[in-house]
Amino acid sequence: MERVVNLCKRRGLVFPSSDIYGGFRSTWDYGPLGVLLKRNVKDAWWRSMVQLRDDVVGLDSAILMHPRVWEASGHVATFSDPLVDCKQCKSRFRQDHLPESGACPNCGTKGSFTEARQFNLMFKTHVGPVEDEANAAYLRPETAQGIFVNFKNVQTTSRLKPPFGIAQVGKSFRNEITPGNFIFRTREFEQREMEFFVPPADGPKWFDYWVQARHDWYIEHGIPESSITVRPHDTDELSHYSTGTSDIEYAYPWGWGELEGIAQRTDFDLTQHAKFSGEDLNYFDQESGEHYVPHVIEPAAGADRAALAFLLSAYDEEEVNGDKRTVLRLHKRLAPIKVAVLPLSKNEQLAPITSEIASKLRPYLMIDSDVSGAIGRRYRRQDEVGTPYCVTVDFDSLEDSAVTVRERDSMQQTRIPIADVVAYLREQFD
Ligand code: ATP
Repeated sequence: MERVVNLCKRRGLVFPSSDIYGGFRSTWDYGPLGVLLKRNVKDAWWRSMVQLRDDVVGLDSAILMHPRVWEASGHVATFSDPLVDCKQCKSRFRQDHLPESGACPNCGTKGSFTEARQFNLMFKTHVGPVEDEANAAYLRPETAQGIFVNFKNVQTTSRLKPPFGIAQVGKSFRNEITPGNFIFRTREFEQREMEFFVPPADGPKWFDYWVQARHDWYIEHGIPESSITVRPHDTDELSHYSTGTSDIEYAYPWGWGELEGIAQRTDFDLTQHAKFSGEDLNYFDQESGEHYVPHVIEPAAGADRAALAFLLSAYDEEEVNGDKRTVLRLHKRLAPIKVAVLPLSKNEQLAPITSEIASKLRPYLMIDSDVSGAIGRRYRRQDEVGTPYCVTVDFDSLEDSAVTVRERDSMQQTRIPIADVVAYLREQFD
């Protein structure tokens, strides 16, 4: 973990937020390479959830919503964690995260905790200049409710018929009592959520389908099978409205942690919003002549937690010819930079070919060009941020009109004619 966090800071993946002010309470900023990685994680999700399917559409709803939304969803009444204080050292903890020994994780004192108090996790703010209850609003703690309140808008305008889904990616905010473990638990984070609306009898079938599909997505994108598990919730852990929830967990360095939850939410959300808004949120099935409230299966995933899991799984150190090589074996789709175009040296004879290849690749792939330092060191710099291919322009290129393409994991080098190199590299990312 330490090594991944250091790499993130050293190479511009993730910085502490407000760094020059000493950071700010477990908030993080994604730097030039981190923003690419996180965007690729979100895009890979969108590709499999929306682009490659004919039964899911997208949405981008507002972070600020009508306060009644959070009453209807149950967040005002029940979205809270049990908070305890250590009487000895005054540190605060989530009661359900305390060790079984009953010792304070900070000072080690046993049995020093106050009674638990329920602490609502929603960030409250005011809309407009007057700070009173009438103008109170919340930053959304999940993206899901934006989908539920748009159910009718989307269903009618897109003329969709259950089973169908609505997907959304965006920021959510929770005033977590104990954020930490780098980007695993923060107060501002990004979610990738999809609500899949089905005829009530089909709920269990689609639940199994989505648990499997979401598990497979992580494997397809480079998480080893041994680092991932599906954990069904015990009955006493289930939300009051859920008839079944399974978490996809990852073997983080501190233990198993949730990457994503897949929940059967039944008709709870649509029924609540129909009740609170007065809108009819039934679906009318013309074929059967039936009116029903669809049941919902929700795969809800974090983008930051996934990015961390991909980084941890990809991180590798190996010895090559007596030297240590650090390499991020990221899936090609997730790698921040796809190709680095490198002249063998700063010699100006090599510059025109280098910049020609770079500008031909740029419209299709995120590229980097780096001229400073020995070529071996430049390869290592690309390896440690996971760049799948390096193209090297050398003095032979001036004679044979070809370049060397080096592959990250095998370090194998292939000579390719300059005329073919753009097509060759684009094919590697198809
Ligand atoms: P946890 O039990 O870890 O607090 P949760 O069960 O409350 O998580 P959900 O409400 O199911 O989480 O949210 C769906 C996903 O959103 C989680 O699986 C996780 O990937 C992500 N997520 C939730 N809270 C946070 C957070 N504070 N920081 C980063 N990601 C989060």
